Amino acid sequence: PFDVLVVGGGPAGAAAAIYAARKGIRTGVVADRFGGQVLDTLGIENFISVKETEGPKLATALEQHVKDYDVDIMNLQRATRLIPAADSVSGFVEIGLESGVALKARSVIVATGARWREMNVPGEQQYRNKGVAYCPHCDGPLFKGKRVAVVGGGNSGVEAAIDLAGLASHVTLLEFGDAMRADAVLQAKLKSLPNVTVILNAQTTEVTGDGAKVDGLVYTDRTNGETRKLALEGIFVQIGLLPNTDWLKGSIELTGRGEIVTGRHQDTSAPGVFAAGDVTDVPYKQIIVAMGEGAKAALGAFDHLIRESAH
Ligand code: FAD
Repeated sequence: PFDVLVVGGGPAGAAAAIYAARKGIRTGVVADRFGGQVLDTLGIENFISVKETEGPKLATALEQHVKDYDVDIMNLQRATRLIPAADSVSGFVEIGLESGVALKARSVIVATGARWREMNVPGEQQYRNKGVAYCPHCDGPLFKGKRVAVVGGGNSGVEAAIDLAGLASHVTLLEFGDAMRADAVLQAKLKSLPNVTVILNAQTTEVTGDGAKVDGLVYTDRTNGETRKLALEGIFVQIGLLPNTDWLKGSIELTGRGEIVTGRHQDTSAPGVFAAGDVTDVPYKQIIVAMGEGAKAALGAFDHLIRESAH
């Protein structure tokens, strides 16, 4: 069995694997797609000490750094179930893979990340990273002095609109329903900004572009069915971040949004199971945050192992 088995090969999983391997304990990583969300990112300018990099470049660097250590990397493998030690026959935490293989470990670190909910409208994929963005902390500065829209009037959408209003020339917030769902204090702040327009009852139906980049979006006014077009340089989609925890339902405690509930040592409700990165209930989903949590999870797992082996 593994001493530490990491599930997920994004920034959190890579950091956890390196921290665990540096303790000289038997470490493995199972990843559906090593690199994680970073693979889908173009420019990265907020990974401190690296002024500027690109997603695929950082993903390669992560993999190379992990490979410097004695870590068993099982890429292109999907975990489909976790059986806590207390419930497993072997007394170890068990991770079942889609292939049918079952891996045993004295401790597990779940770092399966999250994915942005997409609008699923024509043009969204074509113009992804060419004007269609999901992360205002990451890509906001690219739209300095430009016109942007934010799709979604929940807390994250309204926060994004407030944030972007300080950079962009104009922000249009589109909400599907007849009211925004964000906290009242955020809505009040948004309304006080001179360069923000809010459109309610707006269903985005298409992202338009000139072939190379976004030039606008089309929406239906749900009160009268009319089609309208906005001219824009950027569109931030803020309709939810979905944690990759479907495979964990029933085995560890999740929040109402499906995020893993974690303690200060990245511990979860199951003994010996730790979690890190976007899959957890940590606020602020960022590379540098995920890596810090990955390090904490590995140290938490190591602490667990040295206590356990004293029995
Ligand atoms: P992820 O990167 O999501 O990695 C999850 C890993 O788990 C992957 O290897 C995945 O294949 C694997 N996995 C998932 N399910 C399973 C399963 N069942 N079995 C096995 N493996 C599984 N952050 C910044 O700090 N700066 C930026 O500029 C920036 N730009 C971004 C741009 C885009 C377009 C996106 C989408 C995100 C951006 N982010 C940025 C956010 C950043 O990418 C995430 O915060 C970070 O990748 C989270 O790391 P993670 O390791 O927790 O999860």
